Amino acid sequence: MATFSRRSFIGNLGLGIGASALSPTLMASAFDQPEPTKKLNVAVCGLGRYANVLKSGFAASRYCQLNGVITGTPAKAAKWKAELGLQDKNIYSYQQLDQLANNPDIDLVYITLPNGMHKEYTLRVANAGKHVIVEKPMAFTERDCQEMIAACQKAGVQLAVGYRLHYEPHHMELKRLGQEKVFGQVRFIEAALGYRLAGIPADDWHLSKAMAGGGPLMNLGVYCVQSSRYVLGEEPIAVTAQYGPVTMPDRFKEVEENIMWQLYFLSGAVCTSATTANCNIDRFFATADEGTFELSPALSYGPFAGKTSQNVFNFPVINQQAAQLDDIASHILSNKPIPSHISGEEGRKDMRVIEAIYRAANTGKKVLIG
Ligand code: NDP
Repeated sequence: MATFSRRSFIGNLGLGIGASALSPTLMASAFDQPEPTKKLNVAVCGLGRYANVLKSGFAASRYCQLNGVITGTPAKAAKWKAELGLQDKNIYSYQQLDQLANNPDIDLVYITLPNGMHKEYTLRVANAGKHVIVEKPMAFTERDCQEMIAACQKAGVQLAVGYRLHYEPHHMELKRLGQEKVFGQVRFIEAALGYRLAGIPADDWHLSKAMAGGGPLMNLGVYCVQSSRYVLGEEPIAVTAQYGPVTMPDRFKEVEENIMWQLYFLSGAVCTSATTANCNIDRFFATADEGTFELSPALSYGPFAGKTSQNVFNFPVINQQAAQLDDIASHILSNKPIPSHISGEEGRKDMRVIEAIYRAANTGKKVLIG
């Protein structure tokens, strides 16, 4: 496996196609970070689809040890225990979660519960004195996010949101191209993410307003909002939005099936986005004064493909979850604040925009954000 320093890796990203000299497959653990003297002990809360995706991230992580679970399903507890060699004392039900306060062998809880449970469980984990990673979307409203941030500050624990794309090389490059104005000022962005969910069970929590908070905007559109904000390096000041057609009325009774929106930024840049449950779409495109850059696939798990108006990207495939876990853990272990791009504050900023998008779609009016 290739090894090289994190600094040289990031430097290479700046060379565009120069990155083609790198190994095509690079696990995050190959980064030349100092050898940890202690690992951060992590419990995963809610053992569903994404918790299972995270397993490979923990396996490749150098700074985290997955050593506990919190689950409502005893059969899953037994399966995870057998697979990972978990100790009984690190396995909790939701009712027992507050007892984490008495367990020195768990430092952080990674919350992978349905969206509607993120706030309650962040508050409970913080009250138990443990650091928190909460999945996106952070909560349903900006006010909820503020409460979560305040609770973690009061408890003296750190709060991160599971924004894995900040560690993905194509996205690090998009951010550099946009924020450093490599092709001049970005004027226009298209960002869209959707999946056709025709077979979704009618009782799936993604269709429940109480559990999901909304439709694809909450679950997928948050990536479009995030990427437009970090490529431009600025906050939107206004939004217009429109709901799309409902083609599955037996499913999409409580939450939107389709929504489109346009974010307006102070620089004059505009980002137009769509997110949907009735077709597959996964694209990011930006045009600046002197060139363009784009990815497709762009916002899913990858592997991603992309190009600028001058060259084709050829960045390594990394384990996004491992890189995210290691960055968070290395900061916590050295008593440093986690980076702002994955902080609760970043989640709050996204929720402010998402609330404004819903307000604009509900009223048909341009909504100022500020
Ligand atoms: P799942 O439905 O697959 O898993 C959620 C788990 O939460 C369940 O398996 C269950 O685990 C637990 N749970 C507790 N109460 C309930 C309830 N009332 N209804 C349903 N589940 C319950 O969801 P996902 O794993 O797909 O999503 C979880 C979170 O992760 C979401 O917030 C989602 O947005 C986010 N996510 C993030 C991704 C990323 O790339 N960053 C990708 C996918 C999802 P148990 O049986 O152990 O109690």
